[in-house]
Amino acid sequence: MGYDVQHWVGGTATAGTGSTQPILNPATGEEVGTLHLGDAATVDRAVEVATAAQREWGQVSLAKRTQVLYRMRELLIDATDEIAVHISREHGKTLGDAKGEIARGLETLEFATSITQDLKGGFSENVSTGVDAHTMRQPLGVVAGITPFNFPAMVPFWMHPIAIATGNAFLLKPSERDPSASNVVARLYQEAGLPDGVFQVVHGGKDTVDALCTHEGISAVSFVGSTPIAKHVHRTASAAGKRVQALGGANNHAVVMPDANIEFAASQVASGAFGSAGERCMAVPVAVTVGEAHEPFLEAIAAEAEKLVVGPGDDPSTDMPPVITPDARERVIRMTDEAEQAGGRVLVDGRGLVVDGHEKGNFVGPIVITDLEPTHPTYTDEVFGPLLVVMHVNNFDEAVELVNSSPFGNGTAIFTDSGHYARRYQEEIQVGMIGINVPIPTPVGYYSFGGWKDSLFGEHHAHGPEGLSFYTRQKAVTTRWPSQNETVEASMSFPTHD
Ligand code: NAD
Repeated sequence: MGYDVQHWVGGTATAGTGSTQPILNPATGEEVGTLHLGDAATVDRAVEVATAAQREWGQVSLAKRTQVLYRMRELLIDATDEIAVHISREHGKTLGDAKGEIARGLETLEFATSITQDLKGGFSENVSTGVDAHTMRQPLGVVAGITPFNFPAMVPFWMHPIAIATGNAFLLKPSERDPSASNVVARLYQEAGLPDGVFQVVHGGKDTVDALCTHEGISAVSFVGSTPIAKHVHRTASAAGKRVQALGGANNHAVVMPDANIEFAASQVASGAFGSAGERCMAVPVAVTVGEAHEPFLEAIAAEAEKLVVGPGDDPSTDMPPVITPDARERVIRMTDEAEQAGGRVLVDGRGLVVDGHEKGNFVGPIVITDLEPTHPTYTDEVFGPLLVVMHVNNFDEAVELVNSSPFGNGTAIFTDSGHYARRYQEEIQVGMIGINVPIPTPVGYYSFGGWKDSLFGEHHAHGPEGLSFYTRQKAVTTRWPSQNETVEASMSFPTHD
């Protein structure tokens, strides 16, 4: 039924030998297409093609690689509307939000077009008399990326432009929930002149992921998704001898100080909590009000939540789209029920929301809960839906302690007018990305993205300089050119540099 999404191997779409599963539209519940799922045989074939392609691509001049990426940039800009329609239909997010994530993916592509600057090695003349030293960075070979449903364009773009610019072949395993954007990107790379096999897409679920994590032809795995799967991928691929970066889940807190502009803070927290129905790794599912900020913030955030228009992503009047699956919707409702039963006060209640004409869609309205104990799972767990918990503490130190007690450490924000507290916050908080009066502090493409603690496993953050470092390995070369008649006595001592 509908369209067919196949793997993209060796420059053509291929059905492979695996099973299929339906692709569903979250706004209607309807089946819109069929996805072909990979298996070990599909991965074997793709790695074989990638290995041959990488041997040649790794030798292509930096100038030619850059030209391909420049063309890709133009093609991606032209294809933004087409990709956004796929994303909105399969993920549910609004068209504007889908275009926004493509624009953020473009940043990493632009970083990759100028990577030649960062690929320059170091050179030192006369490290010892008549001896020079230099370093160079080389590709790893075939590398794989495994990505989540919530950013079907941006998150893969954190990976493949840098992997390709540095001479690797890249195998993408996108989320099975919204796979179409990746196939459009594969087509664009081909149009841009990238040799077939350098960028490939293998669809699927656990079987495909496990085959990628253990395949001996793959040198490195980049993963972005939930914490349990990040741990599994990190463990499995590391045990198979691969370089691994595995970015996991989050439960980002925004601290609202009493000196903050409360109306401003509430509007920013609302966009962090309810934008894309809270299904962002940098969403703000927890606000922490400090002292006298509590009551005015509750009033302001409730007003913000109540004015949001919930509807399908392709309706221009929609502020907040559906969540990804019926299960995700049930989970948000169940966690609200449990919070209420435990004494939580539900200030804004989106549980009963029905969108006219979309009765089978996965809609739930914005929810705001307060008066929860800090041990309750609706506060401690990642809900990944439009549910904001407002916690209350007495002072700045208690806020820092609460945020640092979370096992997650992806992003956080502080809203304040005080440079003193802002500076202390960035110093004392155990979180990888911090916003000061900025609710979703996603670093731009030429910085790197990554959390601490259970939000990232591995040594490297994603994209930017850390992406370059992840997808290359360094060689250090020491050089000496003795003259034909130069003689030196053999020394058994470890060489020192005279
Ligand atoms: P997920 O972990 O369910 O899936 C991520 C990828 O893993 C998908 O490609 C999926 O096919 C695969 N997968 C799923 N189950 C698997 C299994 N049992 N074994 C092997 N592979 C499996 O995540 P999701 O629901 O697609 O995405 C939402 C999650 O991703 C949230 O937890 C969110 O916080 C997180 N996320 C984190 C970041 C970050 O930068 N830290 C960014 C985006 C999303």
